[in-house]
Amino acid sequence: QEISGAEVYARALKDQGIEYVFGIVGVPVIEVAMAIQQVGLKFIGMRNEQSAAYAAGAIGYLTGRPGACLVVSGPGLVHALGGMANAMVNCWPMVVLGGSSDEDQQEMGAFQEFPQVETCRLYSKFTARPSSIAIVPEIVEKAVRTSIYGRPGACYVDIPGNFVNASVRLGDCSPVYPPIDSGSMCPAPPRSLADPNSIAAAAKMLHEAKRPLIVVGKGAAYSRGEQELRRMIEDHNLPFLPTPMGKGVIPDDHELCVSAARSRALSNCDVVMLIGARLNWQMHFGRPPRYNKNVKVIQVDICPEEFHNNVESSVALCGNVPDVINQVSNCSSFLCKMINYKVKIFFKLCLNQPHNFLEQKTILPQALASNKSAPLSYYAVYDVIQQYLPQDCIIISEGANTMDISRTMIPNYLPRHRLDAGTFGTMGVGLGFAIAASLYSLETAKKTGKPPQKVVCIQGDSAFGFSGMELETVCRYNLPLVCVVVNNNGIYAGGNREFWEAIKMSGDIPNSAPPTFLSPECRYEKLIEAFGGEGHLCATAEDLDKSFKRCISRSNEQASLINVMIDLTSDRKEQEFSWLTRSKM
Ligand code: ADP
Ligand code: MG
Repeated sequence: QEISGAEVYARALKDQGIEYVFGIVGVPVIEVAMAIQQVGLKFIGMRNEQSAAYAAGAIGYLTGRPGACLVVSGPGLVHALGGMANAMVNCWPMVVLGGSSDEDQQEMGAFQEFPQVETCRLYSKFTARPSSIAIVPEIVEKAVRTSIYGRPGACYVDIPGNFVNASVRLGDCSPVYPPIDSGSMCPAPPRSLADPNSIAAAAKMLHEAKRPLIVVGKGAAYSRGEQELRRMIEDHNLPFLPTPMGKGVIPDDHELCVSAARSRALSNCDVVMLIGARLNWQMHFGRPPRYNKNVKVIQVDICPEEFHNNVESSVALCGNVPDVINQVSNCSSFLCKMINYKVKIFFKLCLNQPHNFLEQKTILPQALASNKSAPLSYYAVYDVIQQYLPQDCIIISEGANTMDISRTMIPNYLPRHRLDAGTFGTMGVGLGFAIAASLYSLETAKKTGKPPQKVVCIQGDSAFGFSGMELETVCRYNLPLVCVVVNNNGIYAGGNREFWEAIKMSGDIPNSAPPTFLSPECRYEKLIEAFGGEGHLCATAEDLDKSFKRCISRSNEQASLINVMIDLTSDRKEQEFSWLTRSKM
């Protein structure tokens, strides 16, 4: 039996358990996309490769198996690099497949010729141009395996244009990698456990800590460590702080969660245990003034190169989060009730004291949220929205204040239910992530027979603009999505109509309009209407309440976008420490 090169790629992806392929077709990958559908995988045609690549990364995070991204040669591949970089920095698995020039035209200035394999090297863990069609299944297996083994990340496989329609005998390209129980699919990553001596040292350190703090990162979420973590935290009464995407691994309303006093908890703890989280900018590099200079670090990570970055770990526990947490929990020296007493004191320090320390002009979020007069603040917007969010809702959020404030105002109750700009601080991920999350929600519903989880994408107006055309994708696939654009006329914030009138009079907009300003009062809701979705414009709390309630209840029937105009001066609450405000800009 003869099959085409396109089919070989499609079958190889299927063999490796890939379920979703996001991309944009064109020469030479049209037949590959068709073959992908023929073997029973889902192909999601997007409007820009960047969003397709973001979606593939998000699927990797949500499912633990890489999403794939199929792009054309040259510019198509270059557009996808943003998503590869984002996945690499977030430690999420994904596989990019890029069409490229025919083998016999290489280095001749072929159509869209580009050094794709070399380019992708910096954006991936593994990149290859198969030397023959027969070897494609092996290369795809290696790409998928590499993307999920060790620290997850992106991988790249090239599709020479002349492979696509060439035919090979099926027998010639049967996979030669060892057959495994699951057919030819690469097995799940081998479990890895930490050195027992280090486990004992960590348990002792936690036991002796006066003010221990557990930091739950997105590595804990990715590795599905929720049960093990919860057991350890509850059995030993350990206070914990989730990172932005670590939110929900243990519910935000858990009594041991110290998010409300994040800065206090970090600066007061004497032992911090990082679980799938890095001491990078998001964790303030583990250094003073955000931490006590004598703080002891216990770090759990799958990647040995991560240990001792910025601050030396007192104990480095290298292994898979759930397995390592089990090891710690089972360590007998750790089973001490004394810790309860110490933690209570620490809790008092974190949760009761800080309010006295706040400067007088500081207004607490609750007070900001309860002021519902128009124009609305971020806090008021989220206060309205959160009443209608089911606990299993998947939240996507990006933008500066839009994202930061949503993180504190919108609770997560389940792991992997919040996706945001992440470690790379990428703006423009929103709709790509939302499309991935909506598909995942529909698929989960099909598997469980339950109604699909709601997916809500909350973006600033500037963040929305990076990938707004993906609304067409959302409508075309009839995805159960509610988008909320929190609109303040600009990046950070912009100006009002009067301001723009004055600037237009000046006749030199490029020279006089502040770079952060976008057009005032853009009607973003009309964009989704153009594609068959439902649009709402809101300026008051009553409008927003009515619109959001309607949109979330109808999201399975029709996708919607709510454009909510907010106060141009709305900002984050005053921070207790001045460097918190500075570091945001
Ligand atoms: P956050 O942004 O939540 O702080 P980071 O992305 O900085 O999280 O850190 C995630 C860490 O989790 C990475 O260092 C990564 O190597 C690690 N990680 C990923 N998968 C696993 C796993 N299965 N077990 C342990 N650590 C993991
Ligand atoms: Mg804005």
